[in-house]
Amino acid sequence: MTVEPSDFSAAKDCVSCGLCLPHCPTYREYPVEMASPRGRIELMKGLAEGELQPGPALEEHLSLCLGCRACETACPSDVRFGHLLENARAVLKDAGASGWTSSALRRLFLNQVFPRPAVLSALASSLRFYQTSMLRRWVQSLLRLMPGPVERLEALMPDFTAPWSAPPPELPAHGPERGVAAFLTGCVMPHCTGEANDATLEVLRHHGYRVLTPKDQRCCGALHLHSGYQEEARQLARANVSAFEATGADVVVTSSAGCGAALKEYGDLLSRDPEWAERSRAVESRVRDVHQVLAETDPPPPMGRIALRAVYDDPCHLLHGQGVSLEPRQLLRAVPGLELVEAKEPDWCCGSAGIYTVTHTEMSLRVLDRKMEDLLSLEPDIILTANPGCLLQLRLGVARSGSDVPVHHVMELLARASRGPDLTGPDELRRHGLTGERTR
Ligand code: SF4
Ligand code: SF4
Repeated sequence: MTVEPSDFSAAKDCVSCGLCLPHCPTYREYPVEMASPRGRIELMKGLAEGELQPGPALEEHLSLCLGCRACETACPSDVRFGHLLENARAVLKDAGASGWTSSALRRLFLNQVFPRPAVLSALASSLRFYQTSMLRRWVQSLLRLMPGPVERLEALMPDFTAPWSAPPPELPAHGPERGVAAFLTGCVMPHCTGEANDATLEVLRHHGYRVLTPKDQRCCGALHLHSGYQEEARQLARANVSAFEATGADVVVTSSAGCGAALKEYGDLLSRDPEWAERSRAVESRVRDVHQVLAETDPPPPMGRIALRAVYDDPCHLLHGQGVSLEPRQLLRAVPGLELVEAKEPDWCCGSAGIYTVTHTEMSLRVLDRKMEDLLSLEPDIILTANPGCLLQLRLGVARSGSDVPVHHVMELLARASRGPDLTGPDELRRHGLTGERTR
């Protein structure tokens, strides 16, 4: 199923008012029209109408976009920018336009690694061995002698050193059961932010949910969609629709903002497939970000005291992609002793954007440095966020800033609060961290 001209009809809603421009990170860092949402919409219109041909220049302008969707939130005409961008990238990819969308490495990862849990596990085990052995020190010393892209890539690699074991297919609620949640683990998260997954399971159970984790779930397809690999994303969506409808759960829950935004658009993605359109809409209607589910728990369960100064950083795919910003703050404010402070620009992207840190390292780090300046100026004891990609990017930002402020998923803090004992300051946080004993 290829992209059709009607898939670009949203571009006509743009009235070129420019209200989105001040909200666009790439335009703020590189103030030329073609690095702005309005400029990109013009390019996409040109592509749709055949006035512009797919090619390296067009591809570079569109690939510089973070896909953060801050322009959507700012737009008074409700232009669905994210949807347009996905379609434009699909056209470029189908045309074999250039380097980045159709590169052999990207194809390999999107087609052979992310959709195959066994291959991903083998790769994660190899990286774990590399990161915990002398090999890494040797490679790093060698790379220091010839600085360049490989050295940068090595330094950007997430931490794979803590192996995660998949939970049992069913975990009971702690106390009386309020509902049944089916949990999306994500494809990469189990390997580099497994503690956030464990914390999500624990907090859901603490809030009275029985949690089902279907074994046959797959990668959500978000990375595929953002890279123009729509057919591959549809295949993954069908597998997930099938896996999650079979659970019969009340809600399908994720603690990854990027995955949640993708799951919430499965209905659109499969709308032209007669066999799957209705099924995907039915599953999509049950998808909730974990903060939405927990914030609705009435009465909320008791929480231990955590006396820390915390700042919450909104992931773009939660704030702009799903319109969820109050719920994480509501949950954090309910933790006794926690002081929640607000950043000046909570809606500024962290520069993670899937694999943007690797494909556009310089822009990604410029965007990240501005984010870190804002967050660290608040002198927090802890930085919290709600998306694994942002978590890793903010940890990179902390390291680049020479700071040692810990960065965790909101779920890790809530799990700690639900578990006790009380955590009464930064020294204890440093000594004990937020993870500690696990209860599953
Ligand atoms: S998605 Fe983000 S980076 Fe891309 S045009 Fe919109 S605001 Fe700018
Ligand atoms: S705010 Fe909306 S209508 Fe105005 S230029 Fe941006 S995308 Fe177009």
